[in-house]
Amino acid sequence: MTETTKKIRTRFAPSPTGFLHVGGLRTALFAYLWAKHNGGDFLLRIEDTDQARFIDGAIEKLVSVLTGMGIVYDEGVVVESGEILDKGDHGPYLQSNRLEIYQKYSKELVEAGHAYYCFCDEQRLTELRKEQEALKQPTRYDRKCRSLSKEEVQNNFDNAMAYVIRQAIPEEGQTTIHDLVYGDIVWENKLLDDQVLMKSDGFPTYHLAVVIDDHLMEISHVIRGEEWIPSTPKHILLYKSFGWEQPQFAHLPLLLNKDRSKLSKRQGDVSVEDFLAKGYLKEALINFVALLGWNPKTDQEIFNLQELIEQFELSKVNKSGPIFDIEKLDWFNNLYIRKMSNAEIVTAVLPFLKADGLIVDELQSKNGKKITQEFLESIIEIEKERMKKFSEIGERTAYFFEQPKYNPELLIWKKANLVQTKENLSNLIDFIQNLSDSDFNSVLEIETKVKEFIAQNNLDNGSVLWPLRVALSGLEKSPSPFELLYVLFIGYGKFEILQRIEIALKLLT
Ligand code: GLU
Repeated sequence: MTETTKKIRTRFAPSPTGFLHVGGLRTALFAYLWAKHNGGDFLLRIEDTDQARFIDGAIEKLVSVLTGMGIVYDEGVVVESGEILDKGDHGPYLQSNRLEIYQKYSKELVEAGHAYYCFCDEQRLTELRKEQEALKQPTRYDRKCRSLSKEEVQNNFDNAMAYVIRQAIPEEGQTTIHDLVYGDIVWENKLLDDQVLMKSDGFPTYHLAVVIDDHLMEISHVIRGEEWIPSTPKHILLYKSFGWEQPQFAHLPLLLNKDRSKLSKRQGDVSVEDFLAKGYLKEALINFVALLGWNPKTDQEIFNLQELIEQFELSKVNKSGPIFDIEKLDWFNNLYIRKMSNAEIVTAVLPFLKADGLIVDELQSKNGKKITQEFLESIIEIEKERMKKFSEIGERTAYFFEQPKYNPELLIWKKANLVQTKENLSNLIDFIQNLSDSDFNSVLEIETKVKEFIAQNNLDNGSVLWPLRVALSGLEKSPSPFELLYVLFIGYGKFEILQRIEIALKLLT
Protein backbone atom coordinates (compact mmCIF):
# COMPACT_ATOMS: atom_id res chain seq x y z
CA MET A 1 0.00 0.00 0.00
CA THR A 2 1.30 3.45 -0.82
CA GLU A 3 0.96 6.24 1.68
CA THR A 4 -1.89 7.94 -0.08
CA THR A 5 -4.12 4.89 -0.13
CA LYS A 6 -3.43 3.97 3.47
CA LYS A 7 -6.62 3.66 5.48
CA ILE A 8 -7.34 6.60 7.77
CA ARG A 9 -7.38 5.35 11.34
CA THR A 10 -7.66 7.63 14.35
CA ARG A 11 -8.03 6.97 18.03
CA PHE A 12 -9.15 8.52 21.27
CA ALA A 13 -6.79 7.45 24.03
CA PRO A 14 -7.98 8.78 27.37
CA SER A 15 -6.73 7.85 30.79
CA PRO A 16 -9.67 6.59 32.83
CA THR A 17 -10.11 9.57 35.14
CA GLY A 18 -13.71 8.88 36.03
CA PHE A 19 -15.30 11.54 33.86
CA LEU A 20 -15.12 12.91 30.34
CA HIS A 21 -13.88 16.50 30.23
CA VAL A 22 -15.44 18.63 27.47
CA GLY A 23 -11.92 19.05 26.08
CA GLY A 24 -11.71 15.26 25.85
CA LEU A 25 -15.05 15.19 24.09
CA ARG A 26 -13.72 17.71 21.58
CA THR A 27 -10.59 15.57 20.96
CA ALA A 28 -12.67 12.41 20.58
CA LEU A 29 -15.14 14.16 18.29
CA PHE A 30 -12.48 15.60 15.97
CA ALA A 31 -10.67 12.26 15.74
CA TYR A 32 -13.98 10.51 15.07
CA LEU A 33 -15.04 13.06 12.44
CA TRP A 34 -11.73 12.87 10.63
CA ALA A 35 -11.88 9.07 10.43
CA LYS A 36 -15.51 9.02 9.32
CA HIS A 37 -15.03 11.87 6.86
CA ASN A 38 -12.45 9.67 5.14
CA GLY A 39 -14.33 6.41 5.42
CA GLY A 40 -11.80 5.25 8.00
CA ASP A 41 -11.80 3.66 11.45
CA PHE A 42 -12.03 5.25 14.84
CA LEU A 43 -10.63 3.44 17.90
CA LEU A 44 -10.96 3.75 21.65
CA ARG A 45 -7.82 2.83 23.55
CA ILE A 46 -7.67 3.19 27.30
CA GLU A 47 -4.35 4.43 28.65
CA ASP A 48 -4.31 3.05 32.17
CA THR A 49 -0.60 2.58 32.77
CA ASP A 50 -0.64 4.87 35.79
CA GLN A 51 -1.86 2.29 38.27
CA ALA A 52 -1.74 4.81 41.13
CA ARG A 53 -4.61 6.66 39.50
CA PHE A 54 -6.88 3.67 39.04
CA ILE A 55 -10.54 4.57 39.59
CA ASP A 56 -13.19 1.89 39.91
CA GLY A 57 -15.92 2.08 37.28
CA ALA A 58 -14.14 4.81 35.29
CA ILE A 59 -13.85 2.80 32.07
CA GLU A 60 -17.50 1.79 32.11
CA LYS A 61 -18.53 5.40 32.63
CA LEU A 62 -16.32 6.68 29.84
CA VAL A 63 -17.56 4.11 27.36
CA SER A 64 -21.18 4.86 28.17
CA VAL A 65 -20.81 8.65 27.95
CA LEU A 66 -18.88 8.50 24.69
CA THR A 67 -21.26 6.14 22.93
CA GLY A 68 -24.22 7.97 24.48
CA MET A 69 -23.00 11.11 22.72
CA GLY A 70 -23.17 9.22 19.42
CA ILE A 71 -19.40 8.85 19.04
CA VAL A 72 -19.36 5.21 18.09
CA TYR A 73 -16.01 3.49 17.62
CA ASP A 74 -15.12 0.64 15.33
CA GLU A 75 -12.53 -0.93 17.59
CA GLY A 76 -11.55 -0.68 21.19
CA VAL A 77 -12.54 -1.34 24.75
CA VAL A 78 -16.21 -2.27 25.08
CA VAL A 79 -18.39 -3.12 28.05
CA GLU A 80 -20.67 -6.09 27.61
CA SER A 81 -22.87 -7.40 30.43
CA GLY A 82 -20.67 -5.54 32.88
CA GLU A 83 -17.45 -7.00 31.50
CA ILE A 84 -14.62 -5.01 29.93
CA LEU A 85 -13.73 -6.65 26.62
CA ASP A 86 -11.93 -5.92 23.36
CA LYS A 87 -13.61 -5.41 20.01
CA GLY A 88 -11.40 -5.48 16.93
CA ASP A 89 -8.29 -7.27 15.76
CA HIS A 90 -5.66 -4.80 16.96
CA GLY A 91 -6.17 -5.42 20.66
CA PRO A 92 -5.85 -5.59 23.53
CA TYR A 93 -7.02 -1.98 23.71
CA LEU A 94 -6.49 -1.62 27.43
CA GLN A 95 -2.83 -0.76 27.96
CA SER A 96 -2.54 -2.67 31.22
CA ASN A 97 -3.25 -5.81 29.19
CA ARG A 98 -0.33 -5.09 26.84
CA LEU A 99 2.57 -5.19 29.28
CA GLU A 100 4.39 -8.03 27.52
CA ILE A 101 4.33 -6.07 24.28
CA TYR A 102 5.97 -3.05 25.92
CA GLN A 103 8.55 -5.25 27.60
CA LYS A 104 9.49 -6.89 24.32
CA TYR A 105 9.86 -3.62 22.43
CA SER A 106 11.73 -1.83 25.20
CA LYS A 107 14.29 -4.66 25.24
CA GLU A 108 14.72 -4.27 21.50
CA LEU A 109 15.41 -0.57 21.97
CA VAL A 110 18.06 -1.32 24.60
CA GLU A 111 19.72 -3.91 22.39
CA ALA A 112 19.86 -1.47 19.48
CA GLY A 113 21.37 1.24 21.70
CA HIS A 114 18.33 3.57 21.59
CA ALA A 115 17.53 3.05 25.25
CA TYR A 116 19.43 2.06 28.38
CA TYR A 117 18.98 0.72 31.89
CA CYS A 118 19.14 3.32 34.60
CA PHE A 119 19.69 2.36 38.23
CA CYS A 120 19.64 5.83 39.80
CA ASP A 121 17.39 5.80 42.83
CA GLU A 122 14.83 8.39 43.92
CA GLN A 123 17.27 9.94 46.37
CA ARG A 124 19.90 10.63 43.71
CA LEU A 125 17.31 12.01 41.30
CA THR A 126 15.89 14.34 43.95
CA GLU A 127 19.35 15.65 44.82
CA LEU A 128 20.13 16.14 41.15
CA ARG A 129 16.91 18.08 40.67
CA LYS A 130 17.66 20.30 43.66
CA GLU A 131 21.18 21.05 42.39
CA GLN A 132 19.87 21.94 38.95
CA GLU A 133 17.16 24.12 40.42
CA ALA A 134 19.70 25.93 42.58
CA LEU A 135 21.81 26.61 39.48
CA LYS A 136 18.66 27.65 37.58
CA GLN A 137 19.31 24.91 35.04
CA PRO A 138 16.57 22.91 33.35
CA THR A 139 15.80 19.86 35.48
CA ARG A 140 16.56 16.66 33.68
CA TYR A 141 18.39 13.42 34.03
CA ASP A 142 22.18 13.83 33.75
CA ARG A 143 22.62 10.59 31.76
CA LYS A 144 24.87 9.02 34.39
CA CYS A 145 23.77 5.46 33.56
CA ARG A 146 23.95 5.98 29.81
CA SER A 147 27.64 5.16 29.86
CA LEU A 148 27.44 2.04 32.04
CA SER A 149 29.29 -0.91 30.55
CA LYS A 150 27.55 -4.24 29.86
CA GLU A 151 29.38 -5.70 32.86
CA GLU A 152 28.28 -2.93 35.19
CA VAL A 153 24.67 -3.39 34.10
CA GLN A 154 24.91 -7.15 34.61
CA ASN A 155 26.46 -6.61 37.98
CA ASN A 156 23.56 -4.37 39.04
CA PHE A 157 21.06 -6.96 37.79
CA ASP A 158 22.86 -9.62 39.82
CA ASN A 159 22.53 -7.41 42.87
CA ALA A 160 18.79 -7.17 42.15
CA MET A 161 18.94 -3.38 41.85
CA ALA A 162 15.76 -1.66 40.77
CA TYR A 163 15.94 -0.06 37.36
CA VAL A 164 14.03 1.89 34.73
CA ILE A 165 14.64 2.03 31.00
CA ARG A 166 15.42 5.45 29.57
CA GLN A 167 15.33 6.74 26.03
CA ALA A 168 18.79 7.59 24.64
CA ILE A 169 18.02 10.92 23.00
CA PRO A 170 20.55 11.91 20.31
CA GLU A 171 22.88 14.56 21.69
CA GLU A 172 22.86 16.54 18.50
CA GLY A 173 20.56 17.46 15.66
CA GLN A 174 16.97 18.55 15.47
CA THR A 175 13.60 16.88 15.40
CA THR A 176 10.77 18.43 13.43
CA ILE A 177 7.07 17.87 13.96
CA HIS A 178 5.07 18.41 10.77
CA ASP A 179 1.86 19.28 12.55
CA LEU A 180 -1.31 19.50 10.51
CA VAL A 181 -2.62 22.33 12.68
CA TYR A 182 0.51 24.13 13.91
CA GLY A 183 2.75 23.61 10.90
CA ASP A 184 6.40 22.69 11.33
CA ILE A 185 7.77 22.83 14.87
CA VAL A 186 11.52 22.31 15.24
CA TRP A 187 13.12 21.02 18.46
CA GLU A 188 16.80 20.92 19.32
CA ASN A 189 17.52 17.36 20.47
CA LYS A 190 19.97 18.59 23.08
CA LEU A 191 17.04 20.18 24.95
CA LEU A 192 15.20 16.87 25.31
CA ASP A 193 15.37 14.77 28.44
CA ASP A 194 16.32 11.08 28.45
CA GLN A 195 12.74 10.16 29.12
CA VAL A 196 11.84 7.11 31.22
CA LEU A 197 10.21 4.55 28.92
CA MET A 198 9.73 1.64 31.32
CA LYS A 199 9.12 2.21 35.01
CA SER A 200 10.55 0.06 37.79
CA ASP A 201 7.13 -1.57 38.28
CA GLY A 202 7.35 -3.07 34.78
CA PHE A 203 4.78 -0.64 33.38
CA PRO A 204 5.59 1.56 30.41
CA THR A 205 5.32 5.33 30.55
CA TYR A 206 2.83 7.09 28.33
CA HIS A 207 5.59 7.95 25.83
CA LEU A 208 6.62 4.41 25.07
CA ALA A 209 3.13 2.95 25.15
CA VAL A 210 1.61 5.60 22.92
CA VAL A 211 4.20 5.06 20.18
CA ILE A 212 4.05 1.26 20.24
CA ASP A 213 0.26 1.23 20.32
CA ASP A 214 -0.27 3.84 17.63
CA HIS A 215 2.10 1.86 15.42
CA LEU A 216 0.64 -1.59 16.09
CA MET A 217 -2.91 -0.26 15.85
CA GLU A 218 -2.01 1.29 12.48
CA ILE A 219 -3.06 4.79 13.49
CA SER A 220 -2.65 7.15 10.52
CA HIS A 221 -3.44 10.42 12.34
CA VAL A 222 -2.67 11.17 15.96
CA ILE A 223 -5.19 13.83 16.96
CA ARG A 224 -4.81 15.10 20.52
CA GLY A 225 -4.54 18.17 22.73
CA GLU A 226 -1.89 20.82 22.27
CA GLU A 227 -0.43 19.93 25.68
CA TRP A 228 1.23 16.90 24.06
CA ILE A 229 3.32 18.91 21.59
CA PRO A 230 6.43 18.94 23.83
CA SER A 231 6.26 15.13 24.06
CA THR A 232 5.97 14.64 20.33
CA PRO A 233 9.68 15.04 19.41
CA LYS A 234 10.46 12.18 21.80
CA HIS A 235 7.77 10.11 20.12
CA ILE A 236 9.15 10.93 16.68
CA LEU A 237 12.62 9.84 17.80
CA LEU A 238 11.13 6.58 19.03
CA TYR A 239 9.50 5.95 15.65
CA LYS A 240 12.91 6.51 14.08
CA SER A 241 14.62 4.19 16.56
CA PHE A 242 12.13 1.43 15.79
CA GLY A 243 12.41 2.11 12.07
CA TRP A 244 8.66 2.68 11.87
CA GLU A 245 6.82 5.13 9.66
CA GLN A 246 5.42 7.89 11.84
CA PRO A 247 1.76 8.86 11.79
CA GLN A 248 0.61 12.37 10.97
CA PHE A 249 0.14 14.63 13.96
CA ALA A 250 -2.65 17.14 14.51
CA HIS A 251 -2.63 18.92 17.85
CA LEU A 252 -5.76 20.75 18.92
CA PRO A 253 -5.60 24.12 20.69
CA LEU A 254 -6.54 24.17 24.37
CA LEU A 255 -10.01 25.33 25.35
CA LEU A 256 -9.99 28.64 27.19
CA ASN A 257 -12.24 30.45 29.64
CA LYS A 258 -13.55 33.87 28.67
CA ASP A 259 -10.59 35.48 30.47
CA ARG A 260 -8.35 33.29 28.25
CA SER A 261 -7.20 31.14 31.19
CA LYS A 262 -7.05 27.40 30.62
CA LEU A 263 -10.37 25.60 31.04
CA SER A 264 -9.19 23.30 33.76
CA LYS A 265 -10.50 20.04 35.09
CA ARG A 266 -10.75 21.53 38.52
CA GLN A 267 -13.01 24.41 37.65
CA GLY A 268 -15.93 22.01 37.95
CA ASP A 269 -18.86 21.80 35.60
CA VAL A 270 -16.63 20.83 32.71
CA SER A 271 -17.49 17.18 32.47
CA VAL A 272 -19.86 15.97 29.81
CA GLU A 273 -21.80 14.06 32.49
CA ASP A 274 -22.41 17.32 34.37
CA PHE A 275 -23.73 19.02 31.28
CA LEU A 276 -26.07 16.13 30.50
CA ALA A 277 -27.26 16.04 34.12
CA LYS A 278 -28.15 19.72 33.88
CA GLY A 279 -30.38 18.99 30.95
CA TYR A 280 -28.17 19.96 28.05
CA LEU A 281 -28.99 17.98 24.93
CA LYS A 282 -26.31 15.83 23.39
CA GLU A 283 -27.02 17.30 19.94
CA ALA A 284 -26.41 20.80 21.29
CA LEU A 285 -23.21 19.75 23.05
CA ILE A 286 -21.87 18.07 19.91
CA ASN A 287 -22.74 21.07 17.74
CA PHE A 288 -21.16 23.47 20.22
CA VAL A 289 -18.02 21.40 20.80
CA ALA A 290 -17.50 20.86 17.05
CA LEU A 291 -17.08 24.60 16.62
CA LEU A 292 -14.43 24.86 19.34
CA GLY A 293 -11.43 25.24 17.10
CA TRP A 294 -12.95 24.04 13.85
CA ASN A 295 -14.15 26.72 11.50
CA PRO A 296 -16.30 25.50 8.62
CA LYS A 297 -15.53 28.79 6.82
CA THR A 298 -19.19 29.18 5.84
CA ASP A 299 -22.14 30.84 7.60
CA GLN A 300 -23.56 27.52 8.69
CA GLU A 301 -23.67 27.17 12.46
CA ILE A 302 -26.14 24.37 13.00
CA PHE A 303 -24.71 20.92 12.32
CA ASN A 304 -25.89 17.44 13.12
CA LEU A 305 -23.35 14.65 13.40
CA GLN A 306 -23.84 13.55 9.80
CA GLU A 307 -23.25 17.06 8.48
CA LEU A 308 -20.16 17.33 10.63
CA ILE A 309 -18.81 14.09 9.18
CA GLU A 310 -19.40 15.40 5.67
CA GLN A 311 -17.82 18.81 6.22
CA PHE A 312 -15.08 18.30 8.80
CA GLU A 313 -11.55 19.06 7.62
CA LEU A 314 -8.42 19.04 9.77
CA SER A 315 -7.08 21.84 7.61
CA LYS A 316 -9.85 24.08 8.98
CA VAL A 317 -8.79 23.68 12.61
CA ASN A 318 -7.42 26.97 13.99
CA LYS A 319 -4.36 27.11 16.16
CA SER A 320 -5.66 29.84 18.44
CA GLY A 321 -7.36 28.64 21.60
CA PRO A 322 -11.15 28.69 21.28
CA ILE A 323 -13.18 30.31 24.07
CA PHE A 324 -15.54 28.00 25.86
CA ASP A 325 -18.52 30.34 25.93
CA ILE A 326 -21.31 28.87 28.01
CA GLU A 327 -23.78 31.44 26.66
CA LYS A 328 -23.15 30.11 23.20
CA LEU A 329 -23.83 26.59 24.46
CA ASP A 330 -27.08 27.87 26.03
CA TRP A 331 -28.00 29.40 22.71
CA PHE A 332 -27.46 26.09 20.90
CA ASN A 333 -29.33 24.20 23.57
CA ASN A 334 -32.33 26.52 23.36
CA LEU A 335 -32.33 26.05 19.61
CA TYR A 336 -32.38 22.26 19.91
CA ILE A 337 -35.02 22.38 22.66
CA ARG A 338 -37.28 24.37 20.34
CA LYS A 339 -36.95 21.67 17.71
CA MET A 340 -38.48 19.13 20.11
CA SER A 341 -42.22 18.54 20.42
CA ASN A 342 -43.93 19.74 23.61
CA ALA A 343 -44.60 16.14 24.58
CA GLU A 344 -40.90 15.27 24.21
CA ILE A 345 -39.91 18.23 26.34
CA VAL A 346 -42.43 17.23 29.01
CA THR A 347 -40.78 13.81 29.20
CA ALA A 348 -37.37 15.47 29.48
CA VAL A 349 -38.33 17.95 32.21
CA LEU A 350 -40.40 15.61 34.39
CA PRO A 351 -37.38 14.28 36.31
CA PHE A 352 -36.34 17.87 37.08
CA LEU A 353 -39.84 18.84 38.24
CA LYS A 354 -39.85 15.81 40.49
CA ALA A 355 -36.36 16.50 41.80
CA ASP A 356 -37.49 20.03 42.65
CA GLY A 357 -40.47 18.56 44.50
CA LEU A 358 -42.97 20.41 42.31
CA ILE A 359 -44.55 17.24 41.02
CA VAL A 360 -44.96 14.53 43.57
CA ASP A 361 -45.77 11.70 41.22
CA GLU A 362 -46.82 11.58 37.60
CA LEU A 363 -50.28 12.88 38.42
CA GLN A 364 -50.08 15.19 41.36
CA SER A 365 -48.61 18.62 42.01
CA LYS A 366 -46.90 19.73 45.18
CA ASN A 367 -50.13 21.07 46.65
CA GLY A 368 -52.08 17.94 45.94
CA LYS A 369 -53.74 18.97 42.68
CA LYS A 370 -54.17 16.72 39.69
CA ILE A 371 -51.68 17.31 36.86
CA THR A 372 -52.50 16.41 33.27
CA GLN A 373 -50.25 15.93 30.27
CA GLU A 374 -52.18 18.67 28.47
CA PHE A 375 -51.39 21.12 31.28
CA LEU A 376 -47.68 20.25 31.22
CA GLU A 377 -47.55 20.64 27.45
CA SER A 378 -49.23 24.04 27.65
CA ILE A 379 -46.62 25.16 30.20
CA ILE A 380 -43.90 24.05 27.81
CA GLU A 381 -45.60 25.83 24.94
CA ILE A 382 -45.25 29.20 26.66
CA GLU A 383 -41.80 28.54 28.16
CA LYS A 384 -39.81 26.74 25.52
CA GLU A 385 -38.78 29.82 23.54
CA ARG A 386 -36.90 31.04 26.60
CA MET A 387 -35.70 27.76 28.09
CA LYS A 388 -31.94 27.31 27.89
CA LYS A 389 -31.72 24.02 29.70
CA PHE A 390 -34.11 21.57 31.30
CA SER A 391 -32.76 22.11 34.80
CA GLU A 392 -34.26 25.63 34.68
CA ILE A 393 -37.79 24.30 34.51
CA GLY A 394 -38.42 24.42 38.26
CA GLU A 395 -37.32 28.00 38.82
CA ARG A 396 -39.20 29.11 35.71
CA THR A 397 -42.49 27.39 36.34
CA ALA A 398 -42.83 26.67 40.08
CA TYR A 399 -45.84 29.01 40.33
CA PHE A 400 -47.86 26.70 38.13
CA PHE A 401 -47.61 23.99 40.76
CA GLU A 402 -48.13 25.99 43.95
CA GLN A 403 -49.67 29.27 45.02
CA PRO A 404 -46.90 31.83 44.44
CA LYS A 405 -45.47 33.75 47.37
CA TYR A 406 -44.60 37.39 46.74
CA ASN A 407 -44.38 40.80 48.32
CA PRO A 408 -47.88 42.39 48.03
CA GLU A 409 -46.30 45.68 46.96
CA LEU A 410 -45.33 44.00 43.72
CA LEU A 411 -49.03 43.97 42.80
CA ILE A 412 -49.14 47.75 42.42
CA TRP A 413 -48.11 48.92 38.99
CA LYS A 414 -45.64 51.83 38.95
CA LYS A 415 -48.25 54.29 37.61
CA ALA A 416 -51.12 53.04 39.79
CA ASN A 417 -52.06 53.25 43.47
CA LEU A 418 -53.41 50.85 46.06
CA VAL A 419 -57.08 51.86 45.74
CA GLN A 420 -57.05 51.54 41.98
CA THR A 421 -55.28 48.20 42.10
CA LYS A 422 -57.77 46.74 44.56
CA GLU A 423 -60.66 48.00 42.49
CA ASN A 424 -59.27 46.54 39.28
CA LEU A 425 -58.56 43.18 40.88
CA SER A 426 -62.03 43.01 42.31
CA ASN A 427 -63.59 43.93 38.96
CA LEU A 428 -61.42 41.27 37.32
CA ILE A 429 -62.92 38.67 39.63
CA ASP A 430 -66.44 39.57 38.49
CA PHE A 431 -65.35 39.66 34.88
CA ILE A 432 -63.61 36.26 34.98
CA GLN A 433 -66.51 34.69 36.84
CA ASN A 434 -68.74 35.61 33.92
CA LEU A 435 -66.47 34.17 31.21
CA SER A 436 -67.49 30.92 29.61
CA ASP A 437 -65.14 27.96 29.20
CA SER A 438 -64.89 28.59 25.46
CA ASP A 439 -63.36 32.01 26.12
CA PHE A 440 -60.27 30.12 27.25
CA ASN A 441 -59.88 28.19 23.98
CA SER A 442 -56.70 29.99 23.01
CA VAL A 443 -54.31 32.64 24.27
CA LEU A 444 -55.66 34.97 21.60
CA GLU A 445 -59.30 34.52 22.59
CA ILE A 446 -58.64 35.21 26.24
CA GLU A 447 -56.53 38.23 25.29
CA THR A 448 -59.38 39.64 23.20
CA LYS A 449 -61.82 39.25 26.09
CA VAL A 450 -59.53 40.89 28.65
CA LYS A 451 -58.82 43.79 26.31
CA GLU A 452 -62.54 44.30 25.74
CA PHE A 453 -63.00 44.45 29.49
CA ILE A 454 -60.27 47.10 29.78
CA ALA A 455 -61.73 49.19 26.97
CA GLN A 456 -65.32 48.98 28.19
CA ASN A 457 -64.31 50.18 31.64
CA ASN A 458 -62.02 52.92 30.34
CA LEU A 459 -59.04 51.48 32.18
CA ASP A 460 -55.42 51.50 31.13
CA ASN A 461 -53.59 48.28 30.31
CA GLY A 462 -50.88 48.59 32.95
CA SER A 463 -53.11 49.03 35.97
CA VAL A 464 -55.09 45.90 35.06
CA LEU A 465 -52.60 43.58 33.39
CA TRP A 466 -49.73 44.15 35.82
CA PRO A 467 -51.58 43.15 39.03
CA LEU A 468 -53.32 40.33 37.18
CA ARG A 469 -50.01 38.93 36.01
CA VAL A 470 -48.43 39.24 39.46
CA ALA A 471 -51.47 37.67 41.15
CA LEU A 472 -51.16 34.66 38.86
CA SER A 473 -47.37 34.24 38.80
CA GLY A 474 -46.00 36.12 41.81
CA LEU A 475 -43.17 37.32 39.58
CA GLU A 476 -41.87 40.62 38.33
CA LYS A 477 -41.19 39.02 34.97
CA SER A 478 -43.20 36.13 33.60
CA PRO A 479 -45.16 35.13 30.51
CA SER A 480 -48.06 37.45 29.65
CA PRO A 481 -51.25 37.43 31.77
CA PHE A 482 -53.13 35.97 28.79
CA GLU A 483 -50.72 33.04 28.58
CA LEU A 484 -51.00 32.54 32.31
CA LEU A 485 -54.81 32.58 32.21
CA TYR A 486 -54.79 30.12 29.33
CA VAL A 487 -52.40 27.68 30.99
CA LEU A 488 -53.89 27.89 34.49
CA PHE A 489 -57.33 27.29 33.03
CA ILE A 490 -56.11 24.13 31.30
CA GLY A 491 -54.41 23.02 34.49
CA TYR A 492 -57.01 23.74 37.11
CA GLY A 493 -59.98 25.59 35.60
CA LYS A 494 -61.39 28.96 36.56
CA PHE A 495 -61.48 28.26 40.27
CA GLU A 496 -57.68 28.42 40.68
CA ILE A 497 -57.51 31.68 38.72
CA LEU A 498 -60.18 33.31 40.86
CA GLN A 499 -58.57 32.04 44.02
CA ARG A 500 -55.21 33.54 43.11
CA ILE A 501 -56.77 36.93 42.41
CA GLU A 502 -58.72 36.77 45.67
CA ILE A 503 -55.53 36.00 47.57
CA ALA A 504 -53.91 39.04 45.91
CA LEU A 505 -56.80 41.20 46.96
CA LYS A 506 -56.57 39.93 50.53
CA LEU A 507 -52.85 40.62 50.60
CA LEU A 508 -53.56 44.25 49.76
CA THR A 509 -56.13 44.69 52.50
N1 GLU B 1 -3.59 9.30 27.57
C1 GLU B 1 -3.38 10.60 27.01
C2 GLU B 1 -4.43 11.52 27.61
O1 GLU B 1 -4.95 11.19 28.62
C3 GLU B 1 -3.48 10.52 25.51
C4 GLU B 1 -2.69 11.50 24.76
C5 GLU B 1 -2.63 11.10 23.30
O2 GLU B 1 -3.69 11.14 22.67
O3 GLU B 1 -1.57 10.75 22.81
O4 GLU B 1 -4.75 12.56 27.14
